[in-house]
Amino acid sequence: MQNLQMVDLKRQYLKIKPEVDAAIQNVLDTTAFINGKDVQQFGTELASYLGVKHVIPCANGTDALQIALMALGLQPGDEVITASYTYIATVEVVALLRLKPVFVDVDADTFTMNIDSVKKAITSKTKAIIPVHLYGQSANMEPLLALAKEHNIPVIEDNAQAIGGTYTFSDGKTVKTGSMGIIGCTSFFPSKNLGCYGDGGAMFTNDDALAEKLKMIANHGQKVRYYHEMVGCNSRLDSIQAAVLRIKLRKLDEYCSARNAAADYYDNAFKNHPNIRTPYRAPYSYHAFHQYTLQLSNVNRDMVSEKLAERKVPNMIYYPVPCHKQNMLKDFGGADFHLPVTDMLQDCVISLPIHTELSEEELSYITKNFIEVVDQLSK
Ligand SMILES: *Cc1c(COP(=O)(O)O)cnc(C)c1O
Repeated sequence: MQNLQMVDLKRQYLKIKPEVDAAIQNVLDTTAFINGKDVQQFGTELASYLGVKHVIPCANGTDALQIALMALGLQPGDEVITASYTYIATVEVVALLRLKPVFVDVDADTFTMNIDSVKKAITSKTKAIIPVHLYGQSANMEPLLALAKEHNIPVIEDNAQAIGGTYTFSDGKTVKTGSMGIIGCTSFFPSKNLGCYGDGGAMFTNDDALAEKLKMIANHGQKVRYYHEMVGCNSRLDSIQAAVLRIKLRKLDEYCSARNAAADYYDNAFKNHPNIRTPYRAPYSYHAFHQYTLQLSNVNRDMVSEKLAERKVPNMIYYPVPCHKQNMLKDFGGADFHLPVTDMLQDCVISLPIHTELSEEELSYITKNFIEVVDQLSK
């Protein structure tokens, strides 16, 4: 089996090449590289897809999270509750703004925030909660939103891995992930479910005043050019990226289905294996399967990873060191947090290739080799 990849962007591109090439050429012809018509149109189209009032595009997902926190007007020392079991960006922006990250544990089945941990972590200084819809599955938002409302704490969703996913409330209402908090943030990094061909990101909100503020902060704190009301930053989605995203947005549901089909194949292949735990699919969520992440038992995970690589089966450890143990956060008291589930996951998770182009032949090769390697190394 040749050239398997975690994410195969080349084959995906070849399927949409004529449309993408024409859209990029169109931007080149208009030379409206920044703030071109595609940027506005993409914002409108994404808002309609997500069912939100406003989409504010920006330069990347990390900026989206940073600008969201800035827009809430938090002060240094304010506490922000988030999971340690996430990509560093979620937490880095909290530290960058001199806010205090307060880490909570995750559930071992969903990999998302544990509600009881959040309950215990809330203090009078808690000024925001950032749930992460990790690997493409929504955090359990209904109890989280109720808890946040009770304490009057804004919720910012880190939707970078779950765009295309949904959450269903107990009354049966189904909404897109990223549309439930006061602000939702996402990334259009190429390998994300809705990825562009460079960097990109966006914020979503239904709040008119907040939308205005997010837009201003992303644009040097100005509404009227050269009149700067507040300290902001420079964070723009460029027109070429927007043109690509407009095409890929139309395919997003199809892309999520293809990811789900690959996940179904894996689930079925691994379902009776005693040492392999397949990802749990919460009944309240349509999983967007940004990653397909297994938990291994009675086997050395790092050796499995190594042996797979030798057999040319790509695999990744998301994430080998949780945020609270990163050197970056030692001055923020990261090491003081006791997060047993997070610690356990760090040593047993392994992610297999998942993308929109996986063939049955490839899936069969990956699963066969994975099972062989796990069996060989099992204690
Ligand atoms: C990718 C990602 C980000 C950051 O997005 P960038 O566009 O790379 O800045 C933030 N949070 C999570 C959970 C991510 O996966």
